[in-house]
Amino acid sequence: MSLRRMWWLLALVIVLTVAAFVIADFSPLQHWLSFHTGTTTVKPNPVFYNFWSGFGSDLGEATLITTVALGVYTGVRKANCHTKGCWRIGHHPLEGTPYHLCAHHHPDVPSGGATHEQILEHGRRARAARVAGQTAPSP
Ligand SMILES: [Zn+2]
Repeated sequence: MSLRRMWWLLALVIVLTVAAFVIADFSPLQHWLSFHTGTTTVKPNPVFYNFWSGFGSDLGEATLITTVALGVYTGVRKANCHTKGCWRIGHHPLEGTPYHLCAHHHPDVPSGGATHEQILEHGRRARAARVAGQTAPSP
């Protein structure tokens, strides 16, 4: 973690701590917060009944939606083309690199689609290069 990022994180922690103390110690805001989250107690209801039947019941849905959104984001980041700004699926590994590229950006995939003969020729050349690499004398 860079020093600049660490300072931003420290500033964020300080701001959140100050905000938590202000909320905890500022009574008009406490009432507003407890009223809008449903934690105020009305006599016939038990403590926190309004919270769990109101605002608190949405926490499960928020967790589910956040989890699904993060899963979709992670899946897209893993599966898409590694070219910056490209949202196509990266089906084609670029040989000798850790990158996966889409058909549009990969140098060996024809943009108009490959015929069966072109695919077989490409496979034959790859096998020949592999065999030549195995039999070549090591330096
Ligand atoms: Zn691409």
